[in-house]
Amino acid sequence: MDLTTTDAFDGLECVDCGATFDAAEATHECPDCGGVLDPTYDYDAIDLDRETLESRPFDSMWRYEELLPFARESAVTMDEGATALVDCPNLADELGVERVLVKDEGRNPTGTFKDRGQTVAVTAATQHGASDVVLASAGNAGQAAAAYAGRAGLESHVFLPSRSGFTNKAMVNVHGGDMNVVGGRIGDAGAAYEEAREEHDDWYPLQTFTTPYRHEGKKTMLYEIVEQLDWETPDAICYPTGGGVGLIGMYKAATEFRELGLIDDLPALYAAQASGCAPIVEAYEEGWDEHEPVENPDTICGGLEIPDPGASPWILEAIRATDGGAVATDDPDILEAGVQVAQHAGLEMVPSSAAAASGAWELAERGEFDGDETIVILNTGSGNKEADVLRSHLMGQGI
Ligand SMILES: *Cc1c(COP(=O)(O)O)cnc(C)c1O
Ligand SMILES: [Zn+2]
Repeated sequence: MDLTTTDAFDGLECVDCGATFDAAEATHECPDCGGVLDPTYDYDAIDLDRETLESRPFDSMWRYEELLPFARESAVTMDEGATALVDCPNLADELGVERVLVKDEGRNPTGTFKDRGQTVAVTAATQHGASDVVLASAGNAGQAAAAYAGRAGLESHVFLPSRSGFTNKAMVNVHGGDMNVVGGRIGDAGAAYEEAREEHDDWYPLQTFTTPYRHEGKKTMLYEIVEQLDWETPDAICYPTGGGVGLIGMYKAATEFRELGLIDDLPALYAAQASGCAPIVEAYEEGWDEHEPVENPDTICGGLEIPDPGASPWILEAIRATDGGAVATDDPDILEAGVQVAQHAGLEMVPSSAAAASGAWELAERGEFDGDETIVILNTGSGNKEADVLRSHLMGQGI
């Protein structure tokens, strides 16, 4: 099969056993060991400097085409990415740092950064000749998958736990996806997805780290942040961490930009989680190389309720190699942070993402940041997605 790949894209490398594969042949897990496959490039063959990038319109994440596996012209894209990085001086005052900026991923086509992963993964699905795509999701990834599959003319099969938000369920239907609401939580939806995959071996999985392409798409957030800061690497990035897909992607992106000579330093990456499901924070604090699954996960932050993040060794490496950290806060503090950001910065954060704001506050209180630092907080999704959850937090205050 011929793929429309970019010039420097080499293929896929297993992060567990190191075997390498042609992207036309290996589509998902490592054929040798079942590990995660990661797209690799010949960086010496990439001729990108700051001026070249600056001369391009800031119109889509595909403007970093040389560092993506597929050509922009063949991409299933709605011009996702190229989101605003919003200066928030009020938040900087509260945190006692020089600058706080919010990367507002709520401005993506389906309202979350999941679009960055799905544009690349669905492009791969079309290149591999898929007719049907399948995934389990807490909600946002399923909505994004249904949207991109619809655009590409593919059938999507989406497994969501019953607790997924109304918007996610409604929009999977609106995009024409085959929606399967599974009683229970994300693990139950995952089990139903596994069963469906066994029954339909021609369905093309869009599951994170099953497809090699979702972290690859999300990495573009870091490229944009650095360019939007005029090539200054932020001191810290606070990331609301579930499966850690975006955090791993940004770690990869930072090392790539350094390799290309576009930046000198890596930003300190901080994983923010909710106390009700914080396997990465536990592993980080205990000095472990991988997580212990959380037995009874319970948080209002659906996107963060990932009790068994399979890529935890990679997440922990990213945090430690960049001198970052990990922090967990409680649901009421997370919701309060979402409300405070809305009231003082105007920005609308989905609760899962407010965990990154809440985590940044906690880190500041612990004295983790210096007064002259620039901190970026990832707003992974639009507050509209779960306005009811944010609103109900006010009920507790009699408002
Ligand atoms: C999926 C999701 C997350 C977690 O993302 P990972 O990259 O898997 O850690 C955070 N916030 C929102 C809104 C999400 O949809
Ligand atoms: Zn392998």
